[in-house]
Amino acid sequence: MSQEFRDDRIFVAGEWRKGGGAPIRSVFAAEGVENTVLSGASAADADAAIERARAAQADPAWQGLKPHERASYLYRISEGISANIERIAWIQSRDTSKTLAETRALAASAAGTFRYFAAVLETSDDLLTVPRGDYLTASVHEPLGVVAAITPWNSPIASDAQKVAPALAAGNAVVLKPASWSPLVSLELAHIIEETGLPPGLFSVLPGSGREVGDRLVRHPDIARVSFTGGTETGRALARAAADKLIPVSLELGGKSPTIVFDDCDEDLAIAGILFGIFSSSGQSCIAGSRLFVQDSIYDRFVARLVEATRALVVGHPFDPRTQVSSLIHADHRASVAGYVALAREEGGEVLAGGGAPDAPDLAGGAYFEPTIIAGLDNSARTCREEIFGPVLVVMPFSGVEDVVAQANDNDYGLACGIWSRDQRKCWQVGRAIRAGTVWINTYKQFSISTPFGGDGASGIGREKGRAGLRAYQRQKSVYTDLSGQPHPWARWPAGA
Ligand code: NAD
Repeated sequence: MSQEFRDDRIFVAGEWRKGGGAPIRSVFAAEGVENTVLSGASAADADAAIERARAAQADPAWQGLKPHERASYLYRISEGISANIERIAWIQSRDTSKTLAETRALAASAAGTFRYFAAVLETSDDLLTVPRGDYLTASVHEPLGVVAAITPWNSPIASDAQKVAPALAAGNAVVLKPASWSPLVSLELAHIIEETGLPPGLFSVLPGSGREVGDRLVRHPDIARVSFTGGTETGRALARAAADKLIPVSLELGGKSPTIVFDDCDEDLAIAGILFGIFSSSGQSCIAGSRLFVQDSIYDRFVARLVEATRALVVGHPFDPRTQVSSLIHADHRASVAGYVALAREEGGEVLAGGGAPDAPDLAGGAYFEPTIIAGLDNSARTCREEIFGPVLVVMPFSGVEDVVAQANDNDYGLACGIWSRDQRKCWQVGRAIRAGTVWINTYKQFSISTPFGGDGASGIGREKGRAGLRAYQRQKSVYTDLSGQPHPWARWPAGA
């Protein structure tokens, strides 16, 4: 595809400038080549972005807008993304090595997110509440101020949109810090947002080190809210810093999500769903269905069929339309995934499919890893407890509902769950018994922007998406207005009244 990278500048405080931090090297891991080198942001850039954001957020040019006027910016951002889907997809595929089919879908979903929150903004009412006296009570919603949005590398345009759209819709300014492995698409979003004429300073993009720039954002006194998606340990550190300032923080963290296959399921549907649930995005997905529980009565046959289907998956270049499993984002990440497979072997696991880099000579220069299935481990093994974030599935047997609910819930994470059975009542009951923010019944990895998303336990705090997603970026204020025109009797004033 004939596309080009832009120069090395980043979008700070309403202008394109060189960042003062360490350079950021974007790589195309599928080919082991460099994309471009950006000037990374520094803590001083974060300070400058926040100072300008604070002024822009408080300016009547932004605060004075009616909701439908603010919404018009979001509609324009949505249209800008839609008009540039091919470029955004190309940039994100080069930055993350995801297939073009996937990055096109992510870009379309980001456009939908901006459109949705524009519509939510235009249709959300403040409340008149029931009074207990001769007064009028209203509950109104106001912006928080400057929001820090910190995102991971796996689906940047979609995670950026899930934070930036509701935060702007709610009347805030946003400082976005993308992950260092995937900075390019967030800067592309900045170009699109700039072209809508959004008042300068309301939006900045600061690619840079988490420890320097991310940390400065979280601790800065003028950041009123932190919206974070990323790893659990980073989330914990961030929440501690936010606690010192007593500001709201939402955390979308990792997962080790169970998929449950009952012996009365449609096996072909289940196999297709399981493959998609763990191996799409090369497993680099927080909601990957990475622990598979198969009922013991069908275990051997089902797992054999799953292994056969896994071996048939096409591992290939992200720009080849036949590819199902592409390269991992970075050679370092492949080393981490390979480390987990080595650990599984040490723990006594048996590798039934995959287990290493593919042999194909044309993939030798990339960070590819074969879709891998591991059996023979107990749910307590580290391989079954820790997030691998790669194309690695562990398979375990279970005997019945009670057993599988106990095993599925025996994990620190609580992000998602898949259930496969023709018995809808059983699916519902098991779904309600599993600790997870999202349950899929006879499907997996389906998403609607209208449906809240988030995790429990080590998978996070708070929900994104849905109509309430807008309110997460606002504070509520209650206003009482007297209707009586009478002095308060307690005061006995004026005398004799
Ligand atoms: P990460 O935690 O390493 O980094 C996430 C972001 O936090 C990056 O922008 C990083 O620079 C920044 N950061 C790092 N240290 C920081 C600090 N001390 N202060 C402030 N910011 C800091 O995660 P990652 O490796 O980029 O992404 C993978 C993780 O994200 C996985 O655990 C995955 O499950 C999770 N994830 C969760 C969801 C969800 O919605 N639940 C979605 C996608 C990814």
